[in-house]
Amino acid sequence: MQHRFIPDLDAEELARIQLKGLQWTVQHAFAGCPAYREKFEAAGLAPGDVQSLDDLTRLPLTSVEDLRAGYPLPLLSVPEEQVVRIHASSGTTGKRKVLAYTQADIDAWKVMMARCYELAGLTTLDRVQVCVGYGLWTAGAGFQLGCEHFGAMALPIGPGNMEIQMQLLTDLGTTCLCSTASMALLLGEEVEKYGLRDRLRLKACIFGAEPHSPKMRARFEQMLGIKHSFDISGMTELYGPGAGLECAAHEGIHYWADYYILEILDPETLTPVAPGEVGEMVVTTLCKQAAPLIRYRTRDLTRLLPGECSCGVGMPRHDKILGRSDDMIIFRGVNIYPGQIAAVLEKFADLSSEYQIQLTRKEGKDHLLLKVERREGAQAGGDADLAGKVGAVLHKALMARPVVEIVDPLTLPRTFGKTKRTVDERYE
Ligand code: AMP
Ligand code: ZN
Repeated sequence: MQHRFIPDLDAEELARIQLKGLQWTVQHAFAGCPAYREKFEAAGLAPGDVQSLDDLTRLPLTSVEDLRAGYPLPLLSVPEEQVVRIHASSGTTGKRKVLAYTQADIDAWKVMMARCYELAGLTTLDRVQVCVGYGLWTAGAGFQLGCEHFGAMALPIGPGNMEIQMQLLTDLGTTCLCSTASMALLLGEEVEKYGLRDRLRLKACIFGAEPHSPKMRARFEQMLGIKHSFDISGMTELYGPGAGLECAAHEGIHYWADYYILEILDPETLTPVAPGEVGEMVVTTLCKQAAPLIRYRTRDLTRLLPGECSCGVGMPRHDKILGRSDDMIIFRGVNIYPGQIAAVLEKFADLSSEYQIQLTRKEGKDHLLLKVERREGAQAGGDADLAGKVGAVLHKALMARPVVEIVDPLTLPRTFGKTKRTVDERYE
């Protein structure tokens, strides 16, 4: 299939682009960024040492601590006169991550985002309702930029504003939504509440920024009456949203490997995991000027998907992002990821996708209370029995025993942005 924005590269061409980009990036960072230069020198490396793609693993890793150390403009590798914009991520702890962009960086980002709209099957006649935050964050800016470059019509609403969302959805006949999974759920619930589904013309939803479960996705797809939704990856450090997108075959996320190299490393040993195994995404940009990333540890967990995709797009793929290594909960000496809990909840038809983990400490002991919403339409009478069953499966799966409470549908907190699944009050 002929694409306007997604190039058709064979493995050899891609490798050539990657090597050229890697060599350029290392030279550029060495020349322009004292922090990178110091790291290379400490590792006994000169930029000319990168002769092949295999040399990537000899380069030192970059981490969020490097971003903090360089605050407010970390990894800056160009003279400030070339910087045209900054964005920042909310950063749950410590200082914000502020990242600078040159005009060429903005242009690269808009191409990556345009590819996402293309892969989602949009045309220039589509109407794209952007329901993510505008401003300092990358989300709104990225979806908007890419939409205009792609040539579709952007409806820049931002998150929240349910009345306006519903109005534009129906009056303008929006065909594509861009939001977090949580916001898509909320929009779906609002559509359901007011019985608007028959008045919608939605055909796609591009959602990302947080992990989702199949159940959550099926629910908003059904409530919004859409055939396809597409998981989008991205992070502020790597331009913003649009680093990759799931295709219509729904067999993983195609990522733009001509813009960055993705390694999957074991977070403990920092060596590559076996092909197809889960590990931490480590990214190296190939043409990012203002704040290049060299082996940046994202903390996101996923796996590479080997082989060709049935959709015919040659860009490589990774699985959906399963969670972040820093989301890990240590409960009575056991490591638990919220995603593991979500996976168990998937198995119970009478539960909705929405859950919250509450951690408290009483009399020197940790307690984990898992609140899960009952599915709409399911009978409340069976709550105690269901909670017992869920608890037993969780006990087996996690080797830890949470207390499970089934709550009424639509009672757990909803958000326009990323849902906070864990409330940890143990050390407050
Ligand atoms: P931000 O700091 O706002 O740029 O958010 C970037 C982070 O959001 C990533 O490092 C991931 O942890 C998370 N994220 C972004 N996209 C997804 C997605 N599609 N699925 C799961 N998590 C995501
Ligand atoms: Zn595909």
